[in-house]
Amino acid sequence: MRKPGPKPVDMRLLDLWDCEFHKAFRSLRDGIGTKPLPPSGFAKQELRSFIAQLKRMTPEHYWLTSRHLSAEMGNAVNLARPPLEVDRWWAEQERDNEIRCLERESHPPETKAQVSRRKVWDDLIKADTYAALRRVCGRWAQLPDVWRRGMTAFPDHVVQNAAQFLSMKRNKRFPRSTYSDDARIDYLARGMAGVLVGKSPLTGIERLRNMKHAPRGPLWVRRQGDYGLPESEQHCGCWRCTAKNWNNVTQVSQTGYEAGLRCFIELAAKAKVPKQWNGTRKRI
Ligand SMILES: [Zn+2]
Repeated sequence: MRKPGPKPVDMRLLDLWDCEFHKAFRSLRDGIGTKPLPPSGFAKQELRSFIAQLKRMTPEHYWLTSRHLSAEMGNAVNLARPPLEVDRWWAEQERDNEIRCLERESHPPETKAQVSRRKVWDDLIKADTYAALRRVCGRWAQLPDVWRRGMTAFPDHVVQNAAQFLSMKRNKRFPRSTYSDDARIDYLARGMAGVLVGKSPLTGIERLRNMKHAPRGPLWVRRQGDYGLPESEQHCGCWRCTAKNWNNVTQVSQTGYEAGLRCFIELAAKAKVPKQWNGTRKRI
């Protein structure tokens, strides 16, 4: 009988942990899980009204509205296609992120609080002993937004896997330049994802860095349940591609965020979510 080989890496799970750690590290450093949106310049009252409207939107509604926005911008979009799980999940993340960005604009955080969380991140990067790592993770877990949002699991994971975390920082591939802070987030998130799926940090880093984002890639989406996607709608379902596609649709990061959000809120009133899209929600 052939000996069973090493268990293959579950790429979906690896990608999911990569995304979660990426957000956790970014939140630690910047106080927000994704790239901050440019300041909008909305009046306070307008900001409050947009925040309230976004908070009322279900992920399905948010997703459908972004599809309407894409159609308005001249893209060929099938508005009848139900959202994939990853679409719902991403819509939820985007909606919450947008709400947090607008809330920060309406109540900017104290500079002091911002400086002290930045110090926790810097100390996490510097920590080179178990004791130092445990101390800094303790400070991370005590940041008010971290425990309020139930994100203390992330510093816990780092402490529980301290040896692997420290070894990955000692590795020669660890980005050390002052300017590679974003690369450090990528490296550490991928490495921790490797650990959390039961592999080594370097396996996580390598597999995610070399993953194919094309039709033969491990996360290529051809169908959802019985619904076969037309070729033009097939896509890589990894979180990074999903994020990129989303940005292409809403264009919020580059130009006209203000006009974009106004238009988005107007379209939200028109976008009616079919009943059958609700009630089938499950977490991926
Ligand atoms: Zn991808």
